[in-house]
Amino acid sequence: MNQPPSVPEHVDAVVVGAGFSGLYMLYRLRQLGLSAKVIEAADDVGGTWYWNRYPGARCDIPTTDYTFSFDPELEKEWTWSEKYATQPEILDYLRFVADRHGLRSDIEFSTAVTAARWDEQDKRWELSTSGGARISCRFYIMATGCLSMPKQPDIEGADRFAGPVYFTSRWPHEGVDFTGQRVAVIGTGSSGIQSIPLIARQASALTVFQRTPNFSIPARNGPAPADRLERIAQDRDAYRHDARWSRGGVPIEPTDVLGGTASPEVRRERFEAAWEQGELFGILNVFADQGVNPATNELVAEMIREKIRSTVTDPATAEALCPKDHYFGTKRPCLDTGYFETYNLPHVRLVDLRRQPIVSITEDGIETADESFAFDAIVYATGFDAMTGALVAVDVTGRDGTSLEAKWAGRPSTYLGLMTTGFPNFFMLTGPGSPSVLSNMAVSIEQHVDWVAGCLKDLRDQGLETIEPTAVAEAGWNQHVQDCAAITLHPTANSWYMGANVPGKPRFFLPYIGGVDAYRQACDDVAAQGYLGFRLAGPGGERCQDGVIRSMQPDVAMVLEFMASLGLPPMESLSAEDARAFMAAAAETRPPGPAVGEITDGVIPLPAADLPYRLYRPAGPAEEPRPLVVYFHGGGWVLGNLDSDDPLCRDLCARTGAVVVSVNYRHAPEDRFPAAAEDAFAAVQWAGANAIELGGIPGQLAVAGWSAGANVAAVACQLARDAGGPAISGQLLICPVVDSDMTRPSYTENGDGYILTTPLMRWFWDYYADPADRTDPRLAPLRGNLDGLPSAAIVTADFDPLRDDGLAYARALTEAGVPVRLIRARGHTHTSVTMVDVVISSAPVRAEMAAALSAFFPATEPVT
Ligand code: NAP
Repeated sequence: MNQPPSVPEHVDAVVVGAGFSGLYMLYRLRQLGLSAKVIEAADDVGGTWYWNRYPGARCDIPTTDYTFSFDPELEKEWTWSEKYATQPEILDYLRFVADRHGLRSDIEFSTAVTAARWDEQDKRWELSTSGGARISCRFYIMATGCLSMPKQPDIEGADRFAGPVYFTSRWPHEGVDFTGQRVAVIGTGSSGIQSIPLIARQASALTVFQRTPNFSIPARNGPAPADRLERIAQDRDAYRHDARWSRGGVPIEPTDVLGGTASPEVRRERFEAAWEQGELFGILNVFADQGVNPATNELVAEMIREKIRSTVTDPATAEALCPKDHYFGTKRPCLDTGYFETYNLPHVRLVDLRRQPIVSITEDGIETADESFAFDAIVYATGFDAMTGALVAVDVTGRDGTSLEAKWAGRPSTYLGLMTTGFPNFFMLTGPGSPSVLSNMAVSIEQHVDWVAGCLKDLRDQGLETIEPTAVAEAGWNQHVQDCAAITLHPTANSWYMGANVPGKPRFFLPYIGGVDAYRQACDDVAAQGYLGFRLAGPGGERCQDGVIRSMQPDVAMVLEFMASLGLPPMESLSAEDARAFMAAAAETRPPGPAVGEITDGVIPLPAADLPYRLYRPAGPAEEPRPLVVYFHGGGWVLGNLDSDDPLCRDLCARTGAVVVSVNYRHAPEDRFPAAAEDAFAAVQWAGANAIELGGIPGQLAVAGWSAGANVAAVACQLARDAGGPAISGQLLICPVVDSDMTRPSYTENGDGYILTTPLMRWFWDYYADPADRTDPRLAPLRGNLDGLPSAAIVTADFDPLRDDGLAYARALTEAGVPVRLIRARGHTHTSVTMVDVVISSAPVRAEMAAALSAFFPATEPVT
């Protein structure tokens, strides 16, 4: 082996990999006038398209879109021959790009980077290569692709087979002739599904070993779609722009059709259209909610299963090929050409490993629990150590001597999928935490390369040498990536997106599912905010504006965007009547909330007024007594009624198994302070006195409320204590109003844009109470005596003007010796925590509320 030379070669940047991303990165580095070198393990350009030469290998994004857009001339000179081009054609394209821009002269082929070490003294990376060279560079850029590190065979006896063994991911360049051979294929992901029909054409006998059946739709390959070519011809720039600002990197109109509400005819029509079209983003866009709603997902899944059953003639084989253990789309769906039809051939057999698992690979074949098979060749289509495998394969050592592998042992952690703390000037193109594999890679690659190039230019222009994310920014981004995934069905699947295909790999959702458009915006925002969350340093100075770029729950942001798009007048510009009418109309269109055992309406007869109430009884024997919760709706003492918080009451009832009595107290301006407070206390007294009749357990009475409802609930607790009863077991205060002081920071920080605004709060106060009354503890319970109050659970939302009210009350109660459970609705607004079945991310918050309510009644078990 060569000894490393004592003097390393110096360049500004080293790029590892000469596929799509490495080639474009080199092009941009040269444009910036930086010296750059690309290190490539293969003997040619191409990356994934160099290695994956198995028969039938094609892209699964139409090639009109899976193409570089940075050079319009390039687009004029290259015409794709098919809708989905083959691997040789895509490889030719990348060679053409490399030659056209003279990129090869800066690429060192047949060389791998083996180690990279950050030198804190020199602020440079020092790399070692397989050829024994040392290279010193300021910027180290991994362009190694997401699916480039083949997963090692994890099957007993894999090294025992005497015949030839092939990996789809490392296919021999000269090709393989299976004519007359008995061939085994292990794996039915995209690579297996693409290659099986072609291997079947040659093999005398083909046996496919399937562990998990996969969803696949016909690619319907052929000429590039005419409508798309026409759109590109008409206005290429507009088309590429639309792609960049689309969800997946291919311009399509996201549907707003929901599976549950569409008629059977519409469902069928939409599905068949997508099936006929043969495109990934089409079949993932049959219904707006198929990625988040299990019932809708099942509609699509079952229609695909019907297609499989109608294609495969042997019913048992058809059933074995029907995916049933994961939601459609949560594993990468495949596009095929004649895949299911292949199983109708007499020499092709499917072995369902769920029924007869592989015991061992043997010298001459494969032994399953039931049978021994003899083969001439085995093909592994068993996938990759995706997204992180190639990155940690190099021995990368960061600032404090920690290796990337060690840092990521628990889980991969990045800021924007681009960089990682502790590794200055180390960039990953399409790294974990970026849209990458969930998008059209060509678009995502260009976006990353452009961002990195812009960043390097900014550093140079500002006399800065190093850039590194902060721990705060990185943790915030990791959280956001997981938050985006958590509202989808994706985390339920054992997919390579989750790292679940590699034994021992931490289970985390690796790519960013918030969309190419949202992601691009986040990256642009980071740069526009002076590289928010990055620490930058150099002769030009040192600076760091620390922070988190996205801390709102993604579905909350979507609701806010939707609300903003409606262009509604501010609520406080309406009359109380009009505001009530608006609320009622909005309530008509939302999901009803979960089913409960029984709902009955009644009236509480009080001297001042009869108060309507609605009682929610949980499922189960009607005669079985339950704890009782008296609930007060939100609406600023002005708005709201029994309908307004109906889904939330159902949710609380279903989750806790308590009887919930929602009380419609009197409202302002018709009945001003202290009407609402007095009603609330009177309703609690009435509920306590009538607990048995209401189906409650005497002595197990809690109060709950949201917003102004939480205000009157808190006041009722104080009044009950002063009156010596009724005994209240606990108070659940959801985003409560507890004080008339509107100078706390959250009134400024969150005063506008989150539905409940500071001006709207003023409007509520003015309707409800004269300024002179606003320090009365029956209005501002924070100013009251807090001794001896019942245990409290207080929910505060990050983006709520009332956030600091809730925090202040929690603090004050704690100081007064009252047990308090603080529930932080992370990334939520005042209203989003109550949006049952609309804001999916609020469900865990309500689960916590329910747990807190249940804990007020120690004898009962929470309903799960
Ligand atoms: P994959 O999707 O991970 O599929 C691997 C297959 O091997 C799965 O069926 C897996 O079963 C099976 N497998 C793995 N280990 C096994 C074992 N020990 N015993 C039995 N079966 C085993 O890998 P891939 O097909 O190479 O595709 C990976 C990704 O590359 C695709 O999802 C896609 O993003 C990309 N790709 C795209 C195209 C294209 O059309 N452009 C083509 C190829 C690949 P389990 O599911 O049970 O783990």
